[in-house]
Amino acid sequence: TITVENIKKSFGDADILKSVSLDIKDQEFTVLLGPSGCGKSTLLRIIAGLESQDSGIIKIGDRVVSHLPPRERNVAMVFQNYAVFPHMTVFENIAFGLRMKKAPEKKIKENVERTAALMHIDHLLKRYSGQLSGGQRQRVAVARALAVEPDVLLMDEPLSNLDALLRLQMRAELKSVLEASKTTTVYVTHDQVEAMSLADRIAVMNSGRIDQYDVPDEIYSNPATEYVGSFIGNPP
Ligand code: ATP
Ligand code: MG
Repeated sequence: TITVENIKKSFGDADILKSVSLDIKDQEFTVLLGPSGCGKSTLLRIIAGLESQDSGIIKIGDRVVSHLPPRERNVAMVFQNYAVFPHMTVFENIAFGLRMKKAPEKKIKENVERTAALMHIDHLLKRYSGQLSGGQRQRVAVARALAVEPDVLLMDEPLSNLDALLRLQMRAELKSVLEASKTTTVYVTHDQVEAMSLADRIAVMNSGRIDQYDVPDEIYSNPATEYVGSFIGNPP
């Protein structure tokens, strides 16, 4: 479980997160859904430790991690712009996190080959990442995140740079890969359809607050606020 407890965050005099609380359940695919600027990325970065909260607590399992640096949280993050190193091979890109953790060479080889196969890029391991398509690079980014065997996978609009068809295909694939690996996932998007098709549970954000946190069916059939109803496309 990831416990988010009363997290507040301001930038200057703008209150971006207004006491956000959320229990993210183990092995679930949780989607943080909300419009541009509502604070989704800020919340994800605080869970990852890339940004500090003003107050509140983050726990992963029984461990309070709010004051730990990212590398001590055992989370992995995939961003929209996929930060894959173009001058490195696919193998070295996927191995990157494991090398940082000083994993033994045998383990590195095993994990890279396993996650590359999972993401269907095992035939590309020797290529330089700069020579890949956008979709292939996105696969490398996901494989690299999974290779470190994180307790938690955090993804911030990872598919938004892909064309519509590829996005649909990757969406389905991500869902099945993450379900199979039972990785607890928090996935940020502003796309309602993406949220509905991926999520075990959706947290709908509205300017720094979570209006509703429930299974997609309930969010759709019983929106907790007018805002949720209109955002999800089922207004009262
Ligand atoms: P999008 O869907 O466009 O990615 P988001 O929900 O991820 O939006 P955030 O990136 O969390 O939104 O930003 C929320 C608000 O906080 C925005 O108004 C943004 O300008 C502001 N903000 C985010 N980071 C900073 C920062 N480092 N300094 C100042 N303001 C910031
Ligand atoms: Mg964002």
